[in-house]
Amino acid sequence: MKTPFHIMIIPTLGCPANCSYCWSSEETSPIMTVDTVKKTAEWIQSLNLEGYQATVTFHGGEPLLAGADFYRQSLPILADGLKNLNPVFAIQTNLWRMTPEIARILAEYKIPVGSSLDGPKDITDIQRGNGYYEKTLAGCKIAQDAGLDVRFICTFTKMSFERKEEIFNFFMENGMPLKLHPALPSIRSSEPEKYALPPEKYGELLVYLLDKAVLHIDRVEILNINDLCRCVFTRHGNVCTYADCMGTTFATGPDGSIYPCYRFAGMEDYVMGNVADCPSWDDLKESRAWKLMFGFKDFVDAHCADCRHISYCRGDCPYNAIAPTGGVVRDVDPHCPAYKRIFDEISDRLDSEMYGDDSFDGGSSRRRRRKSAGVSDLIRKIISQN
Ligand code: SF4
Ligand code: SF4
Repeated sequence: MKTPFHIMIIPTLGCPANCSYCWSSEETSPIMTVDTVKKTAEWIQSLNLEGYQATVTFHGGEPLLAGADFYRQSLPILADGLKNLNPVFAIQTNLWRMTPEIARILAEYKIPVGSSLDGPKDITDIQRGNGYYEKTLAGCKIAQDAGLDVRFICTFTKMSFERKEEIFNFFMENGMPLKLHPALPSIRSSEPEKYALPPEKYGELLVYLLDKAVLHIDRVEILNINDLCRCVFTRHGNVCTYADCMGTTFATGPDGSIYPCYRFAGMEDYVMGNVADCPSWDDLKESRAWKLMFGFKDFVDAHCADCRHISYCRGDCPYNAIAPTGGVVRDVDPHCPAYKRIFDEISDRLDSEMYGDDSFDGGSSRRRRRKSAGVSDLIRKIISQN
């Protein structure tokens, strides 16, 4: 199996929306040139990534602000320039600027679209601004008419947590897979904690959703729960948050600056070089951001050594740990209590179903049956989908 390599391209830091918990709302922010995309492909090639498979994600800001010509020219450059890495593409967008022309271009490369809806219209518009819901669904229709697969991420805030049942039902009743994201304290806001979902609430939410995923096993897909179950079952992290992302994930900003991840984009202290200079591995390793990311990895090895989940948790997201401290590695991701809680829950239920008293109903039939669906059934379903 090839090692994953993830490059996130940030065509702009600007965005036409104005979500309450986000900082990126300047529509006039500079846009990446196609020449920078070309240099990005050349830089990646220069890293000699033999045995790797590349994922290229367009992220933002709002990546569709770059316009149809940007994608018409950039996609062949990347597909061709990285062809030995078998690149697959993805885009994360609010869809407001989706046009039939852009949708057709993205469809040629079968690009899955990730977008954002925080639940029913009133909740989405409270959190993301009036009109967000309608504009995103209008863009979604254009994308789907062109044959694109669209999935939504739902950001849970301190406020929307209280309406989790409504939000869950919205996704289930509309047949949409649910992927969630906890609102983080915004380090670029004057009230960083206003919307942030506290770790204890996040843990509670994950357990609530685990119950829902089991209860409605034939009806819903809760992608985070699938990922967490897969982690526990395989003892290995399968998304960036639960794996060591350092050294295999990079982002390039509109001016060609290289960062360890899109989440650091625009933060000067975390620039590792510029694609125009085609930095080597040695150059990247000299950067402060590289040292911080790997410092975090070493910290996790020591700090989490006695945690039973270390092999598939890996201290969670280094950005969440490092960025709020101004670049000092002094703890793991503040969501640790939430992940510990859900990993404990999945592991304990799995053990109990496999080996404990509540594993079977003890009936007399030759093939004894479990009383109701459990975590092990959910895991069986997830594994069979791969
Ligand atoms: S910094 Fe966080 S979000 Fe970025 S790749 Fe690493 S784990 Fe994922
Ligand atoms: S759950 Fe917490 S202590 Fe355990 S590995 Fe993850 S971050 Fe470390």
